[in-house]
Amino acid sequence: MKSRSLFNNANTHTDSYYAASAGSAPTFPKLQDNIDVEVCVVGGGFAGLSVALELAEQGKKVALLEGVKVAWGASGRNGGQIIGGWNIGYDALASQLGSDAAFMFARMAEEAKDIIYDRAERYNIDCDIKRGYFLAAMKRAHLDYIEEHAQTLDKWTYSQMDKPHKHTLVARKDMGEYLQTDRYIGGHYDEGNGHLHPLKFAMGEARAAAALGVKIYEHSKVIRIDRNDRPMVHTAEGSVTADKLVLCGNCYLEDVAPKLKTKIMPAGTYMIATEPLPAHIAQQLVPKDMATCDVRHILDYFRVSADNRLLFGGKTTYTGADPKDIARTMRRDMLKVFPQLAHVKIDYAWGGYIDLAVNRMPHVGELHENILYTQGFSGFGVAPTQIAGRVLAEKVMGNTERYDVWNDINHFTFPGGTLLRKPGFLLGSSYYYIRDFLGR
Ligand SMILES: Cc1cc2nc3c(=O)[nH]c(=O)nc-3n(C[C@H](O)[C@H](O)[C@H](O)COP(=O)(O)OP(=O)(O)OC[C@H]3O[C@@H](n4cnc5c(N)ncnc54)[C@H](O)[C@@H]3O)c2cc1C
Repeated sequence: MKSRSLFNNANTHTDSYYAASAGSAPTFPKLQDNIDVEVCVVGGGFAGLSVALELAEQGKKVALLEGVKVAWGASGRNGGQIIGGWNIGYDALASQLGSDAAFMFARMAEEAKDIIYDRAERYNIDCDIKRGYFLAAMKRAHLDYIEEHAQTLDKWTYSQMDKPHKHTLVARKDMGEYLQTDRYIGGHYDEGNGHLHPLKFAMGEARAAAALGVKIYEHSKVIRIDRNDRPMVHTAEGSVTADKLVLCGNCYLEDVAPKLKTKIMPAGTYMIATEPLPAHIAQQLVPKDMATCDVRHILDYFRVSADNRLLFGGKTTYTGADPKDIARTMRRDMLKVFPQLAHVKIDYAWGGYIDLAVNRMPHVGELHENILYTQGFSGFGVAPTQIAGRVLAEKVMGNTERYDVWNDINHFTFPGGTLLRKPGFLLGSSYYYIRDFLGR
């Protein structure tokens, strides 16, 4: 049975607040030739752009093929929350790989964010970057989790830094300084994390990569890979032969790389943007102008945009069918947090796919000799994709130290393969939903 393509015949960026506010997108040609390069990257999201940029900075001849437009996928539509860390805790990583590896991942989590802050500065990318992030608790059990999270940060991350970021546990009585809502009973504020306009950032990375000589092709979907000594990829009207191929296609690669498909499951997640709020109202809602997430399995996330809209995201679907009315569904959730916005108009509503991994840990690996890949960012990839790109570039350049450690993490196949992964996952998710409902 042929499944519906997640590409959905898309031709341009999805209609979102980001597409409407990013300014004119750079345009790159369609591949209509047979070319030969040192490295070919497939996928023009954060992961692919990061690989391409890192390699171009080191003088490699790189081509990047994007099926639609640069950052058409998750990278151009996400919550813009720059969050350090991994879904597997450092204690768990230490017991699987040893404490040196866990410390390495803690350092990489910080480096991932620094890549964003550094590139925005170095390449003069105007993308509304701000510092500050709040992890919000709705009940006592969430606070226990958050306290543990803060201790973990101290133990694994901040203990290694000369100048740890300001971070603090916030009690209920102080919540007014952070958010104007009764929904949360406290949380954790961290200035190391932050938020940005993801599409502006990705477009800036693409312009920087092109300026360094990366040949970027849009509307150039890879339809076949030949696994020769020098791999070759084919699009409808051209081909690229390369020493190394790096696949960064999120869940859109589909039958181009069937083996990768069994290790991730596409899931939809959704966002809305309100009309611009008066500046003083936006400031009252989120006085610290930070990104916020709660800690449930299926969580709410939100922040205020540069033009004072509330950008609110959440929900997850596993069936491939979006909610009938995204704006209405998401507005209901937004009003649970900010009932005072009941009279505010919703200007944009959209969704996108994330690539869930069984253990929610991003993968870096080798599909075949000279064919590398990364995937499995599990809804949490704005920062991790940047460092995954750098680590894959290191591997291409012959420095395999960090790649080897990362590649050692078990990456499970979804039980039941692509056919049964959804029912199996839904069962697992119901468990987490009930756990959230009961209080974790
Ligand atoms: C609504 C939403 C909100 C999110 N919010 C956050 C958040 O706030 N913070 C956070 O950390 N993460 C968030 N995420 C997750 C984050 O956006 C992703 O993990 C990250 O952007 C993944 O980047 P990527 O480069 O792997 O994939 P993508 O950005 O999806 O890029 C993959 C690209 O590959 C291209 N491609 C695929 N197959 C082919 C092919 N055969 N040929 C050519 N091109 C191909 C696609 O067209 C696509 O452009 C969110 C995701 C969504 C959808």
